[in-house]
Amino acid sequence: MNICEKQDIDSIYKKLNDTTHSYPKDKTICQLFEAQAEKTPDAKAVIFGEEELTYRELNKKAGQLAYALHLSGVEKNGIIGIMVERSLEMIIGIYGILKYGASYLPISPEYPQKRIDYIVSDSNPSCFIGQSKTIHRISGFDKICINLDDESNYELPECSYADTVRPNDLMYIIYTSGSTGNPKGVMVEQHSVVNRLNWMQKRYPITHYDTILQKTSFVFDVSVWELFWWSITGAKVSMLKPGFERFPQGIIEEVEKNKITIIHFVPSMFNSFLNYICNEDYSTKLLTLKHIFCSGEALTPIHVKKFNTLLGQINGTRLTNLYGPTEATVDVTYYDCPFDDEISKVPIGKPIDNTAMYILGEACLLSPGEKGELCIAGVGLARGYLNQPELTNEKFVDGLGGRGEMVYRTGDYACLMHDGNIDYLGRMDNQVKIRGLRIELGEIEAKICEYESVSQCIVALINADSINPVLKAYILTTDSELAVQKLKKFLRTYLPDYMIPNDFVLMKDFPITMNGKVDRKALVLL
Ligand code: AMP
Repeated sequence: MNICEKQDIDSIYKKLNDTTHSYPKDKTICQLFEAQAEKTPDAKAVIFGEEELTYRELNKKAGQLAYALHLSGVEKNGIIGIMVERSLEMIIGIYGILKYGASYLPISPEYPQKRIDYIVSDSNPSCFIGQSKTIHRISGFDKICINLDDESNYELPECSYADTVRPNDLMYIIYTSGSTGNPKGVMVEQHSVVNRLNWMQKRYPITHYDTILQKTSFVFDVSVWELFWWSITGAKVSMLKPGFERFPQGIIEEVEKNKITIIHFVPSMFNSFLNYICNEDYSTKLLTLKHIFCSGEALTPIHVKKFNTLLGQINGTRLTNLYGPTEATVDVTYYDCPFDDEISKVPIGKPIDNTAMYILGEACLLSPGEKGELCIAGVGLARGYLNQPELTNEKFVDGLGGRGEMVYRTGDYACLMHDGNIDYLGRMDNQVKIRGLRIELGEIEAKICEYESVSQCIVALINADSINPVLKAYILTTDSELAVQKLKKFLRTYLPDYMIPNDFVLMKDFPITMNGKVDRKALVLL
């Protein structure tokens, strides 16, 4: 690259990354919520079925829970595990943990026991919070457990340690699939969430007229804006009944009943939703929807065109494509989709506030049109992976030739378009998405290899872009009688349902490439 070209490229990235914007960096989410509760104590805050809480009631119950933690002698500023279904108690539990000055570690009650046990032993929380229907799943946990259904918690005085929390303290740890056989905990700090929500409120302001639908499982980080955005702006959240997130009819009814204005979909579910509503005219039932945010997977022109016809052009609902990994606090780029149908591509757009995006080739910034690894810098970067300094150092690096700016290497291919937007071009590795759920194929492979008589295994996602992608496991084994049902049963003790392969192929040899590696391409053609 000659000097002139280098200067051009530098100025292109300077323009792209001109995102510096002030945000309340000395505040934490809990402080912002408490300030809002003081401003609008009697406003409705949370809705779940026929139950409701005002800001005052939520603030009080969360404060009483913080007091219960204090009475139990739980370490302040520590990690507190929480295993709950979607409910009012979920909100009380999470806000109670934050009021206590701790960070929350969400664990799904739907996870298999060994996955729960692994996450608990890896994160070593100082306390666990559950509900009557979930608390038995953590019966092996030998420290303090608090049951949110225990009414005596709500007879206690209230307290708050929110003012003792610093912006660089952890706010949550979310576990995501890990390629070496176990999930990994991503540690996210308070100020990163404050910046992310401050940007969202600045760009798409919501008020007390708005209601966000909370439908993402709290073990995935999209839930973070669903769980907190409303509470620092005076809006409301409606907690969708557990399980209803898979049923378009349940979502439509909730939108109509609670006048939902803001909703999130992963594109595959968005597609099912759009297919469902195109059979009948549901637009009047969805009249209140102001904004749909999609993220987690590639949004395509087909989605956007369908959306425009069914909702955008009829109800004036807006559609935005958000992009980001858990390691950079939910989302780092945005693209507002146009209403016109002449769209041939849906880019992931431009960086949000205080965020920089780079497309790197061999240790150099790439020009528009060149494909390289998408790297992220800025205040959204997570602290790293819990207990995994080596992996942290591998993924969070100074990737810009010693300029001192830390970047997170996403493992995503991207290119900068000539109009200044970023185009997402797929993965560089064996990480895949099924219905927006992140899966390292290596994690499944490592578990299958632990099974008796399996010497090697390759898992592939077949028909990745179709409505029904299939996980297929190719297994090298000496046991031609290997009982697949037993293997599945073994896997179910470690892996969530969405990570269990649908098909198993037993093999004596794998096809090999010229340089002696397993030929994945040839394998999936078998
Ligand atoms: P997660 O950490 O579960 O949010 O997954 C992050 C990964 O999901 C990214 O590295 C991308 O591979 C993918 N992803 C997230 N948002 C988008 C999007 N809008 N378009 C394409 N891929 C996406």
